Amino acid sequence: MLLDLNDYRNDMKRCARCSICKWPPLAQMKSWRFSQNCPAISRFNFHAYSGGGRMALGLALAEGKLDEADEELSNIVYRCTACGACDSSCKYNSELEVLWPIYATRARLVGAGCFREEHGPIIESLRREDNPLMKSKSERGRWAEGLDVKDLSKGGQAEVIYHAGCLYSFDPELSKVARETVTLLRSAGVEVGIRGAQESCCGSMAFQLGFQGEFIKFAESNIDDWNALGARKVVTSCACGFGIMKAVYPLLGKKMKFEVVHISQYLDELIREGKLQLSKKIPLRVTYHDPCNLGRKSEEYVPWKGTEKKVLGQLIVREPEKTVHRGWEGVYDPPRDVIRAVPGINFVEMERIREYAWCCGAGGGVKTTMDDFALWTAGERIAEAQSVGAEAIVTACSWCERNLRDAAAAQGKKMQVLDIVELVKQAR
Ligand code: SF4
Ligand code: SF4
Repeated sequence: MLLDLNDYRNDMKRCARCSICKWPPLAQMKSWRFSQNCPAISRFNFHAYSGGGRMALGLALAEGKLDEADEELSNIVYRCTACGACDSSCKYNSELEVLWPIYATRARLVGAGCFREEHGPIIESLRREDNPLMKSKSERGRWAEGLDVKDLSKGGQAEVIYHAGCLYSFDPELSKVARETVTLLRSAGVEVGIRGAQESCCGSMAFQLGFQGEFIKFAESNIDDWNALGARKVVTSCACGFGIMKAVYPLLGKKMKFEVVHISQYLDELIREGKLQLSKKIPLRVTYHDPCNLGRKSEEYVPWKGTEKKVLGQLIVREPEKTVHRGWEGVYDPPRDVIRAVPGINFVEMERIREYAWCCGAGGGVKTTMDDFALWTAGERIAEAQSVGAEAIVTACSWCERNLRDAAAAQGKKMQVLDIVELVKQAR
């Protein structure tokens, strides 16, 4: 079992209720207006909604003091974008796990059969159609119609396989990003293959909602398929897919004969090597939104098992030493370097960036089932981008793009939202 709430009892017990997880570290704060880091506590304003509050709820559940079937518990548990900002902030001063107990709490509810009614169709769609969007799997490869690209569903192998991901495959507005990605890679001389109608979900949505069995099924079959197709590199533009493949797939213990690469890393490499030249000036003031799954959540998670002893009355010594993932090793520089490589661009940072970035609001199943919360969270990010005078937000994740675009439209805000691939394509 990947997610067992009991594995996190010590972390949950040691939560000091200090509330540091509600804010970026003090040294990183630049203003009161953008000083919060947790969409859930900022929106719902009760401690239970914060990382620390979720530790208390998880502990109560593990100790049998709360019932999995409690509707109010489920309401709180799923009003969270699973963005991991609480985890990075807590770990500024601690070694406690905060995000994984959040995942494990969800898995506990699902394991007890207490999943939410609105998650039923998503899981059904994953089981039947290999995507969480209620789309027919036979239409999956349509985004690539007419492109000069090797479709591996018709046979053959490829060393570089492009995984478009569910939203880039099915969202009519966003699938242009998948097409442009393939065109850019081809123009840089990369022989790329796609799995067409045989591509399937990465399993991220199932994992984040707590459906471990479904997640493992997707992850294992993706690894097997990519190995069998001779992949040396699996490239994706979807940050959710990248994050789960980097951080969680390795925990399944299957040999992955390929490297997982996000398109922002690949573009950065191709630009540095001179294989992609950007010559067109784009006189635009842009900022960059760090997708949680490309940033802090893409660090490989190493679960700790061993013995702990207390020394000097309060210090915890672990044997073996624990690998602490604080979000520092996420992908932060490559997308920024790509943006800076665009002639004429005026790049400006927002206040909350890198491992302390504010979430776009779409994660953890929130966009699909609680769109008002997702849009509010994205609206906060747009306000932050406006506060630094940006005309456009560049990002590198389909879910961030969908949600930020929806929020800008719903709230009547003048803000362009661009995928990093679109920006590079425009600069060619
Ligand atoms: S999760 Fe960490 S930062 Fe939050 S209240 Fe607990 S100990 Fe403090
Ligand atoms: S994962 Fe994100 S939304 Fe959920 S409690 Fe932590 S900071 Fe808040």
